[in-house]
Amino acid sequence: MPNEKSSLIGLTRGELESFVQQIGEPAYRGRQLYDGLYRRRLRSFAEMTDLPLALRTWLSEYARIGELQVERSSGPAKDHTRKFLLRLDDGLFIESVFLPESPGQTVCISSQVGCAIGCTFCATGKMGFSRNLTAAEIILQVLEIERLSGTSVTNIVLMGMGEPLHNYENVVKALKIFTDSEGMSLSPSRITVSTVGIIPMIERWCAENPPAKLAISLHATTDERRDQIVPANRAFPLEDLMKSLRRLAHVTRFPVTFEYIMIADFNDRREDAANLRHLLRNIPAKMNLIRLHPTGSGLTPSSDDAIDRFMGWLVEEGIDCTVRESRGVEDSAACGMLYAQEPHPPLSRINRDE
Ligand code: SAH
Ligand code: SF4
Repeated sequence: MPNEKSSLIGLTRGELESFVQQIGEPAYRGRQLYDGLYRRRLRSFAEMTDLPLALRTWLSEYARIGELQVERSSGPAKDHTRKFLLRLDDGLFIESVFLPESPGQTVCISSQVGCAIGCTFCATGKMGFSRNLTAAEIILQVLEIERLSGTSVTNIVLMGMGEPLHNYENVVKALKIFTDSEGMSLSPSRITVSTVGIIPMIERWCAENPPAKLAISLHATTDERRDQIVPANRAFPLEDLMKSLRRLAHVTRFPVTFEYIMIADFNDRREDAANLRHLLRNIPAKMNLIRLHPTGSGLTPSSDDAIDRFMGWLVEEGIDCTVRESRGVEDSAACGMLYAQEPHPPLSRINRDE
């Protein structure tokens, strides 16, 4: 049953101040609520003992903190990764992944139910698009994983289901709460938002400079090839994207991180390394090479030798690169493998009091 009471998680300090003022309380009660919800991560109004009893009782009756139902969890896998299937109030599902010691306590969270882009290699892309997540649903993924794992999250990557820049407003609202020193207090340099490269939204990012790093999913070095696997490239071709990214690097003064899935004989050729040097000219860049995870796409992953060879060519071209360790593959919890729909692989039921 959907819960009719609206969730307080997701509201900013100012919104919580207005909320309490509407019921005749002074604004500072809103700031106390904000502190209880985000800094102290309290999960019930009863624990907010700095609020008067009458207000706590009123809140318990007419408001709620907000939660996501943990439908199932998998893991911990050999590499300690755990994947969670979470049910939203309207009955839709999303997946989130906990990657402890990677090296921080990292959560990979979703920004949408499904994704409208439809990249050929990505399991989420095959689901189609259902809806954007609210700021509350984005934040609650982190809070639920902290609760279930008993740890404090230090790093967040928006690399789960969905295209974050198609849900700009809610994602940025969540980023501000994640990084507010009086809120969840995470460092902006430890939050990464991954995008296929929605140019108008990158322009908006340049203008507003939200508190997170942007990573770009590149995956091919010519428009002709990128069009085949990342349909958004038709609207936002490579040279236009690079122009925006030059601005981004200038505004943020950080190198731009690129993600590059290694596909055999498709993007791991000598000429791809040369094309990259040309594309990335005047962009301080870091390339993250990613193994193609199996999603039934029919594409063949590059071999380890091919990846090593490609890295050598990138070094020759003067491009800074690393190979990203693939985690969570055995439980379909790795990049691009999130697909939150029934039927689902058998996962253990989780005890909510765990
Ligand atoms: N929509 C955003 C963020 C979610 S996808 C984006 O595309 O960037 C997060 C990362 O997973 C992206 O870099 C994406 O390219 C990668 N990914 C998708 N499918 C994959 C697969 N089969 N193997 C490896 N990485 C994959
Ligand atoms: Fe969407 Fe990213 Fe998957 Fe492409 S890779 S379909 S943009 S989630």
